[in-house]
Amino acid sequence: MMDLCLYAMNEAERQKVEYADIRIINSKEQKLVSENERVYEVKDNIDQGFGVRVLKNGAWGFASSPIIAKDEIAKVVRNAVAVAKASASVNSKIKDKKISVLKNPKVIDSFKTIVRVDPFSIPIKDKFDFMFEISRRMLKVDKIKKVYSVANFENVDKHFANIFGSQIHTNVTTTMFEYVAYAVDESTSKDRSYGIYPQTIGYEAILESDLLDRCERVASEAVMKLTAHRGVEGIKDLVLDPTHLALTIHESVGHATELDRALGMEESLSGRTFATVDKLNKMQYGSPIVNLVADLTLENGLATHGYDDDGTKGKRWHIVKDGIFSGYSTSIDTAPEISMSESNGRCNADSWFSIPIVRIPNLGLMPGKDNLSVDDLIAGVDDGIYIEGMGSFSIDQMRENFQFGGDVFWEIKHGKITRMLDNVTYQAITRDFWNSCDAIAGEKYWVKSGVANCGKGDPMQTAKMTHGAAPARFRNIKIGGGNV
Ligand SMILES: [Zn+2]
Repeated sequence: MMDLCLYAMNEAERQKVEYADIRIINSKEQKLVSENERVYEVKDNIDQGFGVRVLKNGAWGFASSPIIAKDEIAKVVRNAVAVAKASASVNSKIKDKKISVLKNPKVIDSFKTIVRVDPFSIPIKDKFDFMFEISRRMLKVDKIKKVYSVANFENVDKHFANIFGSQIHTNVTTTMFEYVAYAVDESTSKDRSYGIYPQTIGYEAILESDLLDRCERVASEAVMKLTAHRGVEGIKDLVLDPTHLALTIHESVGHATELDRALGMEESLSGRTFATVDKLNKMQYGSPIVNLVADLTLENGLATHGYDDDGTKGKRWHIVKDGIFSGYSTSIDTAPEISMSESNGRCNADSWFSIPIVRIPNLGLMPGKDNLSVDDLIAGVDDGIYIEGMGSFSIDQMRENFQFGGDVFWEIKHGKITRMLDNVTYQAITRDFWNSCDAIAGEKYWVKSGVANCGKGDPMQTAKMTHGAAPARFRNIKIGGGNV
């Protein structure tokens, strides 16, 4: 494959482009869904193809094909150059700005997810047997009427080369598993879900998980939701579990600190941001104990690929350091816009037929330094709510004004959890929220969770990233009953 990549780069050089790269991708994906004790869905795909990106006359061109052959590659390179020239001619009429890219050092390297048990080596029947056992255990709980399990496995083998001489081979395996139990009574139904957090890892993540052990508890919590107290409102303190914080971090920090949004290059899907370039290294994003770190080297991280699709090696950097806004997710064409000499390296495409765009990296809230436990956090709350799991969310175009739900809510009174609540939502302004964070549990409580279906761009691309956190406490947050 790499010889074809080099052939493509020679063709691009002959076209006198400013920059070019190619990705040749072979991927496998398996998605299995069970409903109670029957097969609900089986998807078992393989896919291959390549995409060529060129920079010519200060504009991007991109073309792709599923036919991996020399003649086709030459044609696709010419197509990409034609697209770039056409874009440049339009650009020159509407603006003078030309795109330029940072010159990454030449790299010849490879990266492979460490996989002990290849998920594609396990027979589909064995996987469904495991899912049916989960269903059996949950359906034994009174009022549980439906149980769905979803298993998703991916392997992406990628050969990358660019015009600077880099040759990078990556092989990334992703494993996900989640189940949801539906409890039903005369008037309503409620669900509760649980899973192993999606990771770049093999099937061992499932074999060594507590998925079976947690079945009864998760089912019982779905039943408890049927009679949980509703309609809680007012100003209260929140203790947020890592499984919940993942989405809050994602929406209020991750997307807000993508440099293409800050530069006005991306506007789809709540696409702009308040975290503009003039605020970098100045704005108080959160309280001084808030450290949000991007880490593309994180073990088993969903965005841990060795290199991004610009050929930039995975790094670790602060997005928020001691409360101060201090970094963006970047690409080789956005980083020079703010005089960075290197990209932080989070520019990825979701397939061979998509052009790479800036994405949220693995992004985590660092644990607190005082070794507090989650019980310590709860003990410091007189009137509040402990929230687990992800639920609904909405956020405005500037990523400033948000509302989040959750999966399970526990009332806290006088330092103790008293009862389950239902349908809680909270609202805040991003910076007020993070500045109200007054305690974060210690390293022992730091858990990796993640988002497996982040949508961005137009046409939309999806991406996956890990969001780790320890439970954290937020003071005086507006709680609404919500109708979600
Ligand atoms: Zn997203």
